[in-house]
Amino acid sequence: MLLVTLLLLLTASPALFMRLYPPGLPTQFYRDLGNVIVDQMDLPSMPSPLREGHWPRSELRVGQAAGISVDLNDRPQVFHRGNVTWDSTSFNRSHHYQHRGRGPIRIATLLTLEKGTGAVLRSEGAGRFYLPHGLHIDGEGNRWVTDVAMHQVFKLPPDSDTPTLTLGVAFEPGYDDAHFCKPTDVAVADDGTIFVADGYCNSRIMIFNRDGRHLGSFGEREGMEFVVPHSLALEGAVLCVADRENSRLVCWNVREPFVQPQVVDLQVYGPVYAVAPAGAVLFTLHHGRRHPSALTLDLATGRVIDNWPAAKSLNQPHDLAVSSDGRTIYVVELTPARVVKFLVDPDLYEHL
Ligand code: ZN
Repeated sequence: MLLVTLLLLLTASPALFMRLYPPGLPTQFYRDLGNVIVDQMDLPSMPSPLREGHWPRSELRVGQAAGISVDLNDRPQVFHRGNVTWDSTSFNRSHHYQHRGRGPIRIATLLTLEKGTGAVLRSEGAGRFYLPHGLHIDGEGNRWVTDVAMHQVFKLPPDSDTPTLTLGVAFEPGYDDAHFCKPTDVAVADDGTIFVADGYCNSRIMIFNRDGRHLGSFGEREGMEFVVPHSLALEGAVLCVADRENSRLVCWNVREPFVQPQVVDLQVYGPVYAVAPAGAVLFTLHHGRRHPSALTLDLATGRVIDNWPAAKSLNQPHDLAVSSDGRTIYVVELTPARVVKFLVDPDLYEHL
């Protein structure tokens, strides 16, 4: 059974949040959730996503496929590792990358795909990255990527793979305001506020303004005790963290941090690798004991609406992304390295 519990949070840094987000009504969190729900479909009738069998139409040559997001033209963009794999030799005990001398991945690591066929439309990111991880595309089309070897976050504009903003210090893991340690994912609010999940060794969420000025962080000392915050989802003002090794989601209103967060216990499905919003629902990916799971959850209550039968065909899913209409879901896998497409409404696709 799914357990939904409420915990108190953020007792240690109220001053920070007072500056960041002036206090509003205590009920704002639930009001925001209600607004999301009004816009949405009838949840119980939502069909299970089904895998599209012949997609991509031709072989897509990627390495470990770590991140995926959908751009403003509804095209999936994939962030992958080329010929590099993350294994036990990649880092030493102090989290320093051990293969820096081999240079960056030479081939293009950021691919834009045609949504109908999966053909590669654009190839970018050659000679820039060492160990790609997360990819988030914001409301202006900027691509935010994380590199766990470089311990950095990069903002790439829609039309170029030359970063316009870089956060963190190259190849220097750390725990202060200027350093990350294997950052996993990024979410950017409409006002430009940047949230970084940091990450494999610092279990905290860091906050920056749109210019990259550090505003604060949370999660490491306030009793939340994240264990590998691995993926972020931002729907309106509601930010959800996939707290991977705790097998749970932690969601709250970033404008009203004093309101209790909602903690969704998903232990029965295993560690949660990815979370993505689609209006009133959230989609999640899990590595269970027997096989992976993909779930559809009601954002307002945390209730599991669906455990997709088709997700049992996955092996090692790592991230997922949803089209703007919520009816196409892309999943990337590390092994086998691939992109898998699911359709929420199969009637739209006669070849299934
Ligand atoms: Zn990962």
